[in-house]
Amino acid sequence: MEQVVIVGGGPTGLMLACELRLGGVDPLVLERLAGPSGESRAGGIHARTMEILDMRGMLEPFLAEGRRLPRGHFAGIPLDFSGLPTRYPFLLNILQRRIERLLEARARELGVRVRREIAVTGLRQTADQVTIETTQGEFAAPFVVGCDGGRSTVRKLAGIDFPGTPATMTAILGDVELASPPADPVFQQRTPYGNWSVLNFEPGWYRVMTNDFDHVADRDAPITVEDLRKSLLRHAGTDFGLHSPRWISRYNDAARLASRYRSGRVLLAGDAAHIHYPAGGQGLNTGVQDAFNLGWKLARAVLHDQDLLDTYESERRPVAERVLANTRAQTALTRPDAQTSALRGVLTDLSALGDVNRSLSEMLAGLDISYAGVGPRVADRDLPDGTRLYQHFHSGQPVLLGRDDSVAWDGPAMLIRPDGHVAWSESMGEPALREALDRWQL
Ligand SMILES: Cc1cc2nc3c(=O)[nH]c(=O)nc-3n(C[C@H](O)[C@H](O)[C@H](O)COP(=O)(O)OP(=O)(O)OC[C@H]3O[C@@H](n4cnc5c(N)ncnc54)[C@H](O)[C@@H]3O)c2cc1C
Repeated sequence: MEQVVIVGGGPTGLMLACELRLGGVDPLVLERLAGPSGESRAGGIHARTMEILDMRGMLEPFLAEGRRLPRGHFAGIPLDFSGLPTRYPFLLNILQRRIERLLEARARELGVRVRREIAVTGLRQTADQVTIETTQGEFAAPFVVGCDGGRSTVRKLAGIDFPGTPATMTAILGDVELASPPADPVFQQRTPYGNWSVLNFEPGWYRVMTNDFDHVADRDAPITVEDLRKSLLRHAGTDFGLHSPRWISRYNDAARLASRYRSGRVLLAGDAAHIHYPAGGQGLNTGVQDAFNLGWKLARAVLHDQDLLDTYESERRPVAERVLANTRAQTALTRPDAQTSALRGVLTDLSALGDVNRSLSEMLAGLDISYAGVGPRVADRDLPDGTRLYQHFHSGQPVLLGRDDSVAWDGPAMLIRPDGHVAWSESMGEPALREALDRWQL
């Protein structure tokens, strides 16, 4: 019997596997694909995800491969990230296939087993274990986590509903070569039909995106470079000589949230639990952060007891709810009519105000996330002994500051969970320290 089976070796599944290893558990990752998908998809990681990777000592290769962009946007309205209260006040532009390669390398370094070309097809559970049927036989474990993306088989097999709002528009994305590219990058240029963009992430090819608000296409219908050409011609009046597509995809603004994150011994994380329009680049980030919240709790459930597992849903589902809300707002702000243009004008003026810029930036960057009954995230800082606070989280263990000689600390005492949220601080009094240690199994 396995300790934990993770279905899906995307960013969420890989991050969860790393966290479980640090928690002393040996997970098995089952992935349907024979190798990395090569789909470029997500274009970047936000500050909170960088902090998380830093807390596990795995950020350096991401910083080395990515491009630091001091600006982000809300529905195409520019935001200045440079004042974000973090060591990483920027968006790190790095493509998803590179993120997945770095996460997989780290998972292998930690001894995670990833078995490919295995698709989950069935699931049954008893009071003690879950058995999953796959194309390569059965696997059993006390816990199974569905990290198998927006069309999650695990979610469906576990009988978890996925309510939300249907698509109201159609987006096409192509990573292509252009014979005559525009002189400068184009970002969300508005037209009577929606908007279009041409971005240059890496030398030699361009990401072309069109958003059409006057029809909803069938997401499952085949998509070709000709569909993208037709849409681009309509928006931009030229196809820029596009050719040699590497990846073409159609998506939309359907937004859905799992009604529960847990059914008995089956849990969901990442896109399996929430989907939305990729506005502001939050999907992959939210999935990695789900994994960071779940990993240490699940490790304790495997090794000790299950008391903490329900806090995963109570802490993370409201976060996804907010992401769905802000992406719906961004879709609404992108509609091509005159009223929306006027609304965008108002919001553009507002976002020039420092407080509005800060509030929207912190939301997209994931820095304003707080959980009911727990303190805020701790920001990194330099310590008197020359170390940085985040270095003390590399092992995935909780950190007690001001009571434990292992970390030189010059402030009020604090107990910090393995995911960087404050579980106790000196002002709460000594009896509360014992309660926090018990409650969070620290
Ligand atoms: C155009 C586009 C741009 C985006 N841009 C951004 C961005 O800038 N920033 C951002 O944060 N997010 C972005 N996203 C969203 C991001 O791509 C997803 O949120 C992210 O991939 C979710 O990761 P995941 O691991 O949860 O799921 P997935 O990446 O979907 O991984 C799921 C894995 O499960 C496997 N699987 C599925 N079913 C089975 C089965 N039955 N058995 C075994 N394995 C299975 C799949 O093969 C896959 O490898 C974008 C998405 C799109 C489409």
